[in-house]
Amino acid sequence: MNIKTRVESIVSKTLKDKIKLSKQKKILVALSGGKDSAVMAYLLKKNGFQIEGFHIDLKLGGYSDRCKSSVVELCENLGIGLHIYDMKKEMGSGMCYLRQNVQNREGYKGVKNCAVCGVIKKWIINRESRKFKIDFVATGHNLDDECQTFLLNIFKGSPELSANSGAITRNVSDKKFIPRIKPLFYVPEDMVREYAKKMKLPFVPEKCPCALDSYRIQIREFLNTLDNKKKENIIKNFERIYPKIAGMKSGVGIQYCEKCGEPSRGKVCKMCEMVGY
Ligand code: AMP
Ligand code: ZN
Repeated sequence: MNIKTRVESIVSKTLKDKIKLSKQKKILVALSGGKDSAVMAYLLKKNGFQIEGFHIDLKLGGYSDRCKSSVVELCENLGIGLHIYDMKKEMGSGMCYLRQNVQNREGYKGVKNCAVCGVIKKWIINRESRKFKIDFVATGHNLDDECQTFLLNIFKGSPELSANSGAITRNVSDKKFIPRIKPLFYVPEDMVREYAKKMKLPFVPEKCPCALDSYRIQIREFLNTLDNKKKENIIKNFERIYPKIAGMKSGVGIQYCEKCGEPSRGKVCKMCEMVGY
């Protein structure tokens, strides 16, 4: 089977058997400017879903400008609408400045760049997506990303953090939480890259200049010594044991952050805790 058929059949199967979405549902596709979200949006559109794009302009200099241009080009090619969230305009500063402020605070000095950025991006995506009339948010996470996160959570002693993860978010139902889907959940990263090139999708090939999360990089390097079959097995085993992991979660359900009102595991959400609002 060639790369086109292989990737398309994995994604169609994921959409049909795991995500089980009706074509009436509206999906906001979170577009970073990279290959993964470009392929994810392209394939959702190809499978007949109603999508519109959302891009956070992180304001990280030339890298962010190139990401934004790629996203604009992709949405034009797909004939879909695009919402751009400008961090400087909306939050008063770009990701770099905001992140450094967090890392200068007591208790956050050793926190990795990607960990801070990830919390801020998730908070923005959930909050903003409620403003549009959509049912789901789709991200471009691929099989390699999911293996890394699963292993990282175990190695850090918090396997329960993986409990809601999957091709579609599990166990969370709240009017303020927009469910998330990951159409590339079962597609290995090298196949996503090959597909994006073959289909000539616009994307920025370089990595984020701030991605210096050493532990995740070490795990990625280890995973890259394994073939795709072994990575698929890690995810299969994760799915086999996740009901037990879900049982390890604390009894506290979703509540609303007392500072920003967003869904939160604790009284104050991770974003407000970190940024110190
Ligand atoms: P990352 O955390 O950079 O690996 O990105 C994971 C997924 O989050 C991507 O595939 C996108 O769907 C989404 N994402 C990352 N960065 C952005 C961004 N700047 N704007 C919108 N969505 C993003
Ligand atoms: Zn909050």
